[in-house]
Amino acid sequence: KGIPRKTLYEAENILKPLELTDDCYRKVMEIMNQNIEEGLHPDTHANANIKCFPTYVRSVPDGSEAGVFLALDLGGTNFRVLLINLHDQEVSLESKIYMIPQPIMLGSGDQLFDHIADCIFKFMCDHNLHDKSLPLGFTFSFSCRQAGLDKAILTTWTKGFKCEGVEGRNIVELLHAAIDRRKDMKNVRCLAVINDTVGALISCAHSDPDCAIGLILGTGTNACYIENLDNVKTWDGDNDDPKQVLINSEWGGFGNDGCLDFILTDFDRAMDNYSINPGKQIYEKMISGMYMGEIARLAIERLRKHKLLFEGKGSEQLSTRGRFYTKYISEIEGDDVDNFAMTKEILEELELTSPTDQDCRLVRHVCSLVSKRAAYLASAGIACLLNKMGRERATVAVDGSLYRFHPFFHDLMMEKTAQLIQPNLSFKIRLSNDGSGKGAALMAAVASRLP
Ligand code: ADP
Repeated sequence: KGIPRKTLYEAENILKPLELTDDCYRKVMEIMNQNIEEGLHPDTHANANIKCFPTYVRSVPDGSEAGVFLALDLGGTNFRVLLINLHDQEVSLESKIYMIPQPIMLGSGDQLFDHIADCIFKFMCDHNLHDKSLPLGFTFSFSCRQAGLDKAILTTWTKGFKCEGVEGRNIVELLHAAIDRRKDMKNVRCLAVINDTVGALISCAHSDPDCAIGLILGTGTNACYIENLDNVKTWDGDNDDPKQVLINSEWGGFGNDGCLDFILTDFDRAMDNYSINPGKQIYEKMISGMYMGEIARLAIERLRKHKLLFEGKGSEQLSTRGRFYTKYISEIEGDDVDNFAMTKEILEELELTSPTDQDCRLVRHVCSLVSKRAAYLASAGIACLLNKMGRERATVAVDGSLYRFHPFFHDLMMEKTAQLIQPNLSFKIRLSNDGSGKGAALMAAVASRLP
């Protein structure tokens, strides 16, 4: 389409490794399935790539939840306190973002939780609730080993946090201790800790009873799903009804043992080499916002070096690692192909002077290959879970900026997932709005009526 045949041929050769066959995707599903089994079994769990942590969330909301709840959301881009009112399937929500100053992010655990308690108190005062007794749900999106619904033991801080004395501890205990240090808010109790995948699932399940998978496609990727207790060999809780539990797969770690090397390209390897965790989170690195832009940049640079782009002229910006943001991929693929106005603006921002329409077309092609592969790999994961659950109908609740803002991610996932699942199954994929807040409050509601 407007690209000379010879250029197209050379470019296709360079980019071919980014295009995977359906056989590859099916192979990925097969290995993922094995890896999940390993995560769910006590003999293999410790070395498993896909950890499959049981969340202790046993039942999802059914829409009958009611009451007023507080929720905390820590671990995404912002820290938020929320007030959620549940009534007749209606959810009203007020929230406020609070800063966590850098010294607190790097201070002591007590300082962090005192600060959090302080924010909750201020929030309650602002809403005239300071003398009320309110249950609280906590979306804490750091890697935790759960030992109960209200017992989450932090394994490692990430995302810029490094508070002393928290790793290895139950964060609910630390939060309660901070609340108890104050005389003025003894009535706030945290009933449930969840992560963002569970939040997405729970919040969608409130209005869609078929919801069975929660998926995050943002900075990183992760998914949770509903598993039969019989299959969870690591389960140490009770065997009461319902005989199911939500599993936090932590599937970003898929490929840590080299099992996905057969699909890696030179671009993936180069990106991985310079990452802070080489050899780790391989599946995540092909799928999520933190890495896709860099993969595209490396491919564009390769084409440029072969004089297939920008007449071979590069720029300092284009050769800077991390400078090509994943949001550019969305913007370029969403651009008008008649004039490439946005694409030209981005390329000029990268100091590539006067790109031609042909340059724009090829850059767009690179972006579409990177996002298509990401969407298809995520679909392989989803198809693996759908086949495993074998539910006739299932809904996948998704949150994260990559899914939210990429113009075709949803359509690509619908198309590929449909091809990869067993023919008797049907599914929907939908955006989960405000899963982290609403999900935590709903979980507190569910927990507050547990015996
Ligand atoms: P988090 O996962 O940290 O909670 P988000 O869901 O907002 O937060 O994801 C942030 C990631 O989404 C960033 O890595 C960024 O690259 C990516 N991102 C932001 N905007 C877009 C966009 N328009 N298109 C694709 N990816 C985007």
